Amino acid sequence: MRASDNPVRDFFLQQAELFTDEFYFEPPARQTDTETGGLTGAVPEPLDWEELETRVRDCQKCALARTRTQVVFGAGNRNAGLLLIGEAPGQQEDLQGEPFVGRAGQLLDRILAAIQLGRQEVYIANILKCRPPNNRTPSSAEIENCEPYLLRQIELIQPALIVCLGLTAAQTLLRVETNLRDLRGNVYNYHGVDLVVTYHPAALLRNMGLKKYAWEDFQNIQKLYKAKSGSQ
Ligand code: SF4
Repeated sequence: MRASDNPVRDFFLQQAELFTDEFYFEPPARQTDTETGGLTGAVPEPLDWEELETRVRDCQKCALARTRTQVVFGAGNRNAGLLLIGEAPGQQEDLQGEPFVGRAGQLLDRILAAIQLGRQEVYIANILKCRPPNNRTPSSAEIENCEPYLLRQIELIQPALIVCLGLTAAQTLLRVETNLRDLRGNVYNYHGVDLVVTYHPAALLRNMGLKKYAWEDFQNIQKLYKAKSGSQ
């Protein structure tokens, strides 16, 4: 595949070539391989927002589909320059169908306001779209099943900056097992997009001592985002 000036798109096209079956329709004009009975010549066609949302809302790929109240697809500005990624819906998110609406979400709103950002200016999503029972940590199988939906969201948004909120988001996207303390404070290149790591707001509610580090992170996020978006 020839490299273009859009590394995010190049990455996902490469993923589509490798894995094909997740969020890509085969084109209507596909040909049947009469010898094998299979399909040949399929060119991946990326799902648009509506198709993707329908796919996720109907998803039954893992057992969380049986225990969720509803899918939490993601919310915010689909043209946002800043994409925030958390772990998974909690109880309130599962009930309301929106990400970050519980106490952690209220804290996130206050943090965003402190760096002059509102929800309408960012997009917020999670690694998992369904709530794990009792808010347990997502399993690697659940992440593997659900991550392609997030990857397609990233491709559609094409953010200038990605912020991983917490260890699950960071380790999943960066493919590392490093602890959060060592991951924060750096800017990573995520297929051409700057990516930074900070604490999940729920961790800040549990441990007040982390707030000063999170505040440092968000001040850096504000600077980076301003530089990326060219705002004053
Ligand atoms: S968590 Fe993701 S993969 Fe599992 S059922 Fe929900 S949408 Fe599907």
